[in-house]
Amino acid sequence: MEGVTHLLHELPELIVEFYFHNFLPKAKLFTGRMTIAKKHRQSPIDIRTEKVCCDPKVCQVNSLHIDYKMGDCVDVECSESGWKVNVAKNCQSFLTGSHLEGKYELAQFHAHWSYDGTRGSEHMIDGKPQAAEVHFVFWNTKYSNINEALEKPDGLAVVGVFIHEGLYNENYQPLLDAIKRSNESDTPAALPHEFTIEQLMPDHGERDFVTYLGSLTTPPYNESVIWTLFTKPIEVSKDQLNVCRKICGCNYRPCQELCERQIISSTVLHD
Ligand SMILES: [Zn+2]
Repeated sequence: MEGVTHLLHELPELIVEFYFHNFLPKAKLFTGRMTIAKKHRQSPIDIRTEKVCCDPKVCQVNSLHIDYKMGDCVDVECSESGWKVNVAKNCQSFLTGSHLEGKYELAQFHAHWSYDGTRGSEHMIDGKPQAAEVHFVFWNTKYSNINEALEKPDGLAVVGVFIHEGLYNENYQPLLDAIKRSNESDTPAALPHEFTIEQLMPDHGERDFVTYLGSLTTPPYNESVIWTLFTKPIEVSKDQLNVCRKICGCNYRPCQELCERQIISSTVLHD
């Protein structure tokens, strides 16, 4: 296989135990414990920069392209565990990149956060979390639908954007306004037609990224995700992040073992 999927080695069988809570839809909220066998590519992870392999051929910054069709992000809905933006049924927004084989179609996006700005992102870099992390979920169009893709090792591509609690960010405000309306009304709230996911991404020129093979970070934790994480965070203010914290206080999963996986970056991350 091309792209980064060749990095998937034969790994020893592991038993991973974990706790889950706060991630399930309304009315189904409970705390439980489950055991999953043979899990070796779980997410999120702590990206230790000394272990990252820089390969600008595999990870070409300028090849990473999100072709967004205006109107594809329809509305946002809230649940006990957060918010999610839904896309149009005939979605025509796609992700491509040198580290991905083929074309991935936008399925939804959502975010993870915590009670305050000291933590909340799922991934960390050298043990340092950010206040939040937005996940843009795409599925591989070589499969017939997202449900089929969820069962494949290269079925999903998730783009992660770190959020640092800092300055007010006007680009995030239309989304946050819709989230607020949805949370207060308990119904989905429409996004402005002119909204684009591009406005939530780092500026062009600040899109160095890392990639690795991982999983969903919410049940059922399918090991079907090729992750793409921009290393430079975007700033969003405390008041803006508080819109999310009103939905629920905390919805991030802790870091999981890297095991034998490789992390590849578009640029050198350490001295
Ligand atoms: Zn997520």
